Amino acid sequence: MLSVKNVDFGYNSSKTLSNISLNVQAGEYLAVVGESGSGKSTLLKLIYGEFDVNNGSIFWHSTPILGPKNKLVVGHNFMKYVAQEFDLMPFTTVAENIGTHLSNFFPKEKQKRIKELLAVVELEKYHSTKVKHLSGGQKQRVALAKALAKQPEILLLDEPFSHIDNFKKQSLRKNLFQFLKAENIACIVATHDKNDVLAFADNMLVLHQGKVLLKGLPKDLYKQPKVPLVAAFFSEYSIIDDTIYYAHQIKVSEKGSIKAEVKHCYFQGAHFLIEANSDDEIIFFNHPTSIKIKTSVLLIAKKDV
Ligand code: ADP
Ligand code: MG
Repeated sequence: MLSVKNVDFGYNSSKTLSNISLNVQAGEYLAVVGESGSGKSTLLKLIYGEFDVNNGSIFWHSTPILGPKNKLVVGHNFMKYVAQEFDLMPFTTVAENIGTHLSNFFPKEKQKRIKELLAVVELEKYHSTKVKHLSGGQKQRVALAKALAKQPEILLLDEPFSHIDNFKKQSLRKNLFQFLKAENIACIVATHDKNDVLAFADNMLVLHQGKVLLKGLPKDLYKQPKVPLVAAFFSEYSIIDDTIYYAHQIKVSEKGSIKAEVKHCYFQGAHFLIEANSDDEIIFFNHPTSIKIKTSVLLIAKKDV
């Protein structure tokens, strides 16, 4: 188990992270979400041992994770970290990069593992391509495969799909998270994309200004977003009578008691997202068809049961 206890950290005299505590079990996926600048990357770097904590402790099972003051070389065999800026060897091939840390004493096993990982990140065709010829998204996938090569016990991923296009993202997510479960690899993923979280994460931690704002099951935080920040992570939302509603929970209805005037109408594919004005408050709701600007509507808000 990874155990982070009461950790404080600052790059300088100001506190970047305050009193952070969290646990991650073997094989568990914890999503760390928060706005840009909330401290996600810093938290991953601390867990990796890149900096010294000011207070508190970090353990993987019984092994303390020490910062550079107490550990000369950053990193452990059981833990891999893929940073937002990944470092690869540009002049060698994709396969060689992925196999960097795999032993040459077992060439067959090495090739088998590389093949398996190329499949996970869907780069089979690029086996012999030099990394410098790859796009940003492809490089990110090589970095992921490289981190997985030696089957770490825990993987730290900083916005792992940020450079990857939407065409590839969906299948890559499924591949990766299924693979991690199959190999019982714990992971902590810093992300601001709900699609990395809802379908896959076991637990979720919301960071805000360097503090843990909320922790829980993604399903619970989704259903009961206690604060607007959490609701905003998942969807468009509105606040009516101090209650947070997602756009799909507000509907046009003759019986509705909320009067609003349509301001904007956004095509979303399966529906339209309508932005309306009600007593100078903005309300977002979903509607099956488009609605003309300035149309008056009656709305009804209802939480899912
Ligand atoms: P996130 O990953 O959530 O966007 P970061 O962990 O990168 O957040 O940053 C948290 C805060 O720490 C920000 O205010 C950022 O400006 C600051 N910060 C990040 N890296 C450094 C650094 N190397 N030196 C000083 N301040 C930093
Ligand atoms: Mg970051």
